[in-house]
Amino acid sequence: MAVEPLISESQIRDRLAELGRQIEEDYRSRPLTIVAVLTGSLIALADLVRQIHIPHRIALVQASSYRGATTTSTTLVINDAFAPDVSGRDVLLLDDILDTGQTLANLVRHIQDRGAASVKTAVLLRKIGRQVVPIEPDYCGFVIPDVFVIGYGLDFDDDYRHLPYVGVLQQ
Ligand code: 5GP
Ligand code: MG
Repeated sequence: MAVEPLISESQIRDRLAELGRQIEEDYRSRPLTIVAVLTGSLIALADLVRQIHIPHRIALVQASSYRGATTTSTTLVINDAFAPDVSGRDVLLLDDILDTGQTLANLVRHIQDRGAASVKTAVLLRKIGRQVVPIEPDYCGFVIPDVFVIGYGLDFDDDYRHLPYVGVLQQ
């Protein structure tokens, strides 16, 4: 399948550098933990944290949503075994993309319940037109139209995550 480039490697690099500077200013002298949502945000995590030149910790969570067979509601299952120490810390949740908003909204509540001092959100991409949960990301890389994107961590059928840019899969 062909991939139509949407956001280039250099656009992503420049934008993450800007976000890194903003995060540095906002979290100076605060106990920052960046909690990245597996697996899609791994590449953004690696590149973003190297643009944040203040002390901070890195943690990981996994969130999988399952749509019920007989209902339209989705259940989010959260595994935070690799985010052990968020109590009293200022948490910045990082996800690859905000689509309906359900994943991030649920994770914010979960991290708050774990005793974080504050919880903010960062996304590489924000898709317009599909949001159902009212959540405003505090840091956003790029706003994109309602298309299915891959690359730079985002997958189709668990492939394409390794592409250094964000693209649209041509069916
Ligand atoms: P939400 O809970 O906001 O609807 O969903 C967010 C999750 O859906 C993301 O973490 C991502 O895994 C997946 N997702 C949403 N839109 C896309 C897309 O365009 N491409 C890919 N690869 N995943 C997407
Ligand atoms: Mg995801």
